[in-house]
Amino acid sequence: MPDIFDKHLPSLARDMTGEGPRPFYRAMASGDGEALVEGVRVVMTACNDYLGLSGDPRVTAAAAKALDLYGASCSGSRLVCGTLPEHEELESRLAAFLGCDEAIVTTTGFQANLALTPLFGAADLVFSDMANHASLVDAIRLGAAGKRLYRHSDMEHLAAELSQADPGAGKAIVTDGLFSMEGDLCRLPELHALARRHGARLIVDGAHDIGLLGAGGRGVAEHFGLPEAVDLRTGTLSKCFGSIGGVLAGPADVIGYLRYTARPVIFSASMPPAALAAALAALEIIQAEPERRTRAFELAALLNEGLRELGFDTGESATPIVPVHIGDAGLCGRMWQEVLDEGVFTHAVVAPAVPHGQALIRLSLQATHTEEHLDRILDAFAAAGRRLGMIPGPAHAPGG
Ligand code: PMP
Repeated sequence: MPDIFDKHLPSLARDMTGEGPRPFYRAMASGDGEALVEGVRVVMTACNDYLGLSGDPRVTAAAAKALDLYGASCSGSRLVCGTLPEHEELESRLAAFLGCDEAIVTTTGFQANLALTPLFGAADLVFSDMANHASLVDAIRLGAAGKRLYRHSDMEHLAAELSQADPGAGKAIVTDGLFSMEGDLCRLPELHALARRHGARLIVDGAHDIGLLGAGGRGVAEHFGLPEAVDLRTGTLSKCFGSIGGVLAGPADVIGYLRYTARPVIFSASMPPAALAAALAALEIIQAEPERRTRAFELAALLNEGLRELGFDTGESATPIVPVHIGDAGLCGRMWQEVLDEGVFTHAVVAPAVPHGQALIRLSLQATHTEEHLDRILDAFAAAGRRLGMIPGPAHAPGG
């Protein structure tokens, strides 16, 4: 009889637990653009704390105060005993910030996307970008609606799928706002036009763009000057907000419906007090200190330019997420290790996070990075890239 434990490890996991590079599950402590990885101090470029708020003294002091006041957890779901006044305050302040009627917060951003599921009924169709985050993919899988995938940001493909769809079906187009792996933006004006033409609702996951994009940090809708284009937003509090948690924001009746139907909200313990207080403090800073956004973009532009000059392919990113395209997963692992040996921790991105054969190294910049960090990143890529023959120039031995 087969034993369910007898599964073969997926090849990625097997490769990554053997002798070679170990990019995953490394213990570390990070802050202010650096990290201590198993005793070695390195530049940290794999963290999504774009505005550098997770260690901001105002954020940590607010979290410590809430921890003292309320304890470590509410130990219950929002529905029953897990609602503090601060949950309600954060919801009303996020709704106002995002220009929506109402918001609901969840314990993670992943759960915020899974909380969309009750909207995806059997008579509906969901049109989803192939590069969408795993949590959006899973939300659609868990729902009863039909799924139509369109090639990444390919508006002609989406238009064709919409035209062929049953006109009687309820429709949603679902997309990341800022794509997490390659740092490119969704084509919001075209998505908006297509949604209106075909009577579809537009749902945008703002995990990476809320806090970062737009003059006021309100995300892609503000960036494109289309505040009305997005019908429902989801987001996370673990990136620009330096905390942990998720959010859904939209029309009051839709949010009200999800409060009583979304299983990740009803059946999971609520956002803990310290995380709530941290997110509230971060929201104030996000609104009061736009220079943090400007700084992250300035650094990213310099890094992009430097990497391109060295001969790396950084794709189309114009945001603080900078991909270095590599292709082969094995080479990506070797490059990741060489760059780490040069003192920079990066994120090696291989399938299933990106399609097979499209491995990349993802760098994300934080407002708290310095010019010196940038120089160290570029020096590390220059040395590692030359050693592996990825870019022109003399190859040096490590430290040589
Ligand atoms: N959406 C996107 C686009 C993401 O990149 C992530 C996290 N990487 C999530 C949702 C999930 O957010 P969280 O980590 O808060 O669960």
